[in-house]
Amino acid sequence: MSKRDYYEVLEVSKNATAEEIKKAYRKKALQYHPDKNPGDKTAEDKFKEAAEAYEVLSNPDKRQRYDQFGHAGMNGASGFSGQSMNMDDIFSMFGDIFGGHFGDFGGFGGFGRSGRTRQRVNRGQNLRVKVKLNLKEIANGAEKKIKVKKFVSCSACHGSGAKDGSYSTCSTCHGSGQVTRVSNTFLGQMQTTSACPTCGGEGKIIANKCPVCYGEGIVKGEEVISLNIPAGVAEGMQLSVSGKGNAARRGGINGDLIVLIEEEEHPDLIRDENDLIYNLFLNIPELALGTTAEIPTVDSKVKVKIEAGTQPEKILRLRGKGLPDVNGYGKGDILVRVHAWVPTRLDSEEKQLLEKLMKSPNFQGGPQKGSGKKDFFEKMKGMF
Ligand SMILES: [Zn+2]
Ligand SMILES: [Zn+2]
Repeated sequence: MSKRDYYEVLEVSKNATAEEIKKAYRKKALQYHPDKNPGDKTAEDKFKEAAEAYEVLSNPDKRQRYDQFGHAGMNGASGFSGQSMNMDDIFSMFGDIFGGHFGDFGGFGGFGRSGRTRQRVNRGQNLRVKVKLNLKEIANGAEKKIKVKKFVSCSACHGSGAKDGSYSTCSTCHGSGQVTRVSNTFLGQMQTTSACPTCGGEGKIIANKCPVCYGEGIVKGEEVISLNIPAGVAEGMQLSVSGKGNAARRGGINGDLIVLIEEEEHPDLIRDENDLIYNLFLNIPELALGTTAEIPTVDSKVKVKIEAGTQPEKILRLRGKGLPDVNGYGKGDILVRVHAWVPTRLDSEEKQLLEKLMKSPNFQGGPQKGSGKKDFFEKMKGMF
């Protein structure tokens, strides 16, 4: 298979900025991440391909050389070639791109830690919880305390699984956790290493099992966990709190707690990414004469002046009154969409008034030619 162009791999233009390249890579990496595509070889290849492209394009020297000479210029220069690279290398090189802004949280949990280590270490299972937030909490960030039922370390044996700490070294592997077998084949001697079958790779054997946890080192329990949820999160986002999932058997590494964000609907404000939309209904006299309208915001209310002669479907922008960006890129706006409210029931007096107005000269037609305001089609004509 011939190598694809790095810009094509990340789907960016040749003159993309460093920030655009980083963003594009992050998108690809999340899409093809092995945790999201378990056992999918194509996804893994794409993941590696994107990492290789990013490794070159994120480095100004390498990028310049690549622009000049293409892939030929990269031989021996890029430091690695994606396909031969191992996943742990990718995570250690670029892992920080996934979670920098979340502090304790990463976009995903357990990068590069799932069973890739040589010595077998027990790993607790990840736990998933849903957390529902209202708009105010999303706008300001929230600290939430949640009670989670999970496996916790057994206090009787301090998680070891052994009563009185009674361990003995495994006699099969002499504590290494691995067995090496040498066999003669027609190609010569072959050496294979695998986890020790006697101790399951742990290197030690429990002499007396703890009676509370039956030697597992974990028991059913619960924990109150406080979550610091950053401002600007959205429905469907996943945050991962490392080490707060299930405890592992016999003192291994705890799993992660994966927090799925759910959004409570606001009665008045509709979310559109970082902007909030408010539908404002005004009657005809209010639109014609102008008025002051009260607009709800996330935390309170603001008064907005409506000019005389405001047309329906006009959008008023209240800058910075929307939601903060989860990555810290500023704040969205509140968009006030003006609608005309037409009464559906009239008494005789109202009817008479409106009938009078209906024939009045200023109530005729749409925008008049030469009134200084071009309508949509005139604007379009002006563009060509
Ligand atoms: Zn125990
Ligand atoms: Zn052993």
